Amino acid sequence: MSDSDLDTTDDPRCAAARNSTAAASPMQRRVFLATSLATLSALVFWQWKKPRVLQAATASSVPTEVSVVLFSDSGERLKRVRINQVVKTPDEWRQQLSANAYDITRNADTEMAFTGQYWNLHDSGIYRCICCENALFDSVTKFDSGTGWPSFWSPIASENVIERRDTSFGFVRTAVSCTKCAAHLGHVFNDGPEPTGLRYCMNSASLRFVRHG
Ligand SMILES: [Zn+2]
Repeated sequence: MSDSDLDTTDDPRCAAARNSTAAASPMQRRVFLATSLATLSALVFWQWKKPRVLQAATASSVPTEVSVVLFSDSGERLKRVRINQVVKTPDEWRQQLSANAYDITRNADTEMAFTGQYWNLHDSGIYRCICCENALFDSVTKFDSGTGWPSFWSPIASENVIERRDTSFGFVRTAVSCTKCAAHLGHVFNDGPEPTGLRYCMNSASLRFVRHG
């Protein structure tokens, strides 16, 4: 064991103990109290963080089961299945995806309007997740929103996407992600056409179009 192993000067509990013996004047007592409170806060925070970290580690090692609906490439609804969510490391996603698709799907970036490959596509087919092939949208629900992003008034199956509150950039929006792999897809707004009144504003880079055969 080296000398440095025995050096406990970095331990906040030892710092507090040293301060208690040095507390003599009122000023020193105030400093001591402040130091003790800071130390106590640090310890409470450390204790509070610890189980969360362990919980996260445990959670990532146990696959999360999700329900999705399978669709054929011709858009036929096949069946609802329970599967393990697809989990990959950032490096694995980077190897699989283009840099642009990685930034959008894994880091919730947004492509520039009118730059994606699908905003102006009107062919018949289905749109799958670029990351995991989960069926997401059918061209029958696609409409021209004029926004420069592919827009749909409904997902192909509600089970296949997850919607959650997103307050990034100072806006309150509803983010949409893929149920099967958690890829960020875009946002949904309530200014869409009938019959739902919804506008799923998607990134082309999150999608892979499969033309009906
Ligand atoms: Zn996916």
